[in-house]
Amino acid sequence: MLNIEVMNLEEKTLKFIKSVSDAFFGMKIYAGNSGGKDSAVLDYLLQESGIKYYSLYMNTTIDPPGTIGHIRKYYPHTQILQPKLTFYELVEKKGLPTRMNRYCCERLKEYAGIGRATFEGIRSCESKNRQGRDYIGCDMRKSMKGAKHIYPLYDWTDEDIWNYIEKNNIKLAPAYGLGLKRLGCVGCPQVSRKGQRELEFSLYPKIYIAIKNAIQRGMNKNRQWKISDLTKYDSQIAMDWWLSGKSMNKYFDK
Ligand code: SF4
Repeated sequence: MLNIEVMNLEEKTLKFIKSVSDAFFGMKIYAGNSGGKDSAVLDYLLQESGIKYYSLYMNTTIDPPGTIGHIRKYYPHTQILQPKLTFYELVEKKGLPTRMNRYCCERLKEYAGIGRATFEGIRSCESKNRQGRDYIGCDMRKSMKGAKHIYPLYDWTDEDIWNYIEKNNIKLAPAYGLGLKRLGCVGCPQVSRKGQRELEFSLYPKIYIAIKNAIQRGMNKNRQWKISDLTKYDSQIAMDWWLSGKSMNKYFDK
């Protein structure tokens, strides 16, 4: 038996990927490719491992411009999935998502993993939410029909990821060239780093305006919404609340 401590991170991860592939023998295994740096490292390792997998990019419709072009150019094996409704259509229909009500994730991302085993680039050091998981997790939500989440990069630090990208000359999506350290939905309410959402909207102001227009349409149609009442149908006030990250009651002092 190999001593894991003397194996380097790459070898250890490749060994894990192959062992998962063996364990799931006969089943299709998927891999999420968001176009971000962790997905880039994950896909590189999956290619290195030689296992068979099906790579999927879920178009959230609010990823930084250029991400889909990057996927098409560098990941021709990645299938691009389109959601039933865009982020903007969801906002118009259901309101702005929040950290406590991130309904858009189900509609724009998680649907692709229902009932499937999927390699994902999630790492422990990314956030407190992501700590304490196992390398393979079974999704207990009924709607996910026993989906398995597999995290080969779980122990990788930011430094490990950047070193690996440099060592292997892995090409990154255009968003990284603008100074972003993470790639994901622009302005995602789950992002806790101070100033990050504002930075993203300053880089992509058209996305901010499109979300503002969507919530305006939503409030015009849904006068009964709490946000419609609290803002008196003013989408700028709604956006200011949304970016504050506070609950409606706290922000509007109710
Ligand atoms: S990552 Fe954020 S914005 Fe994107 S779908 Fe999930 S909660 Fe919504």
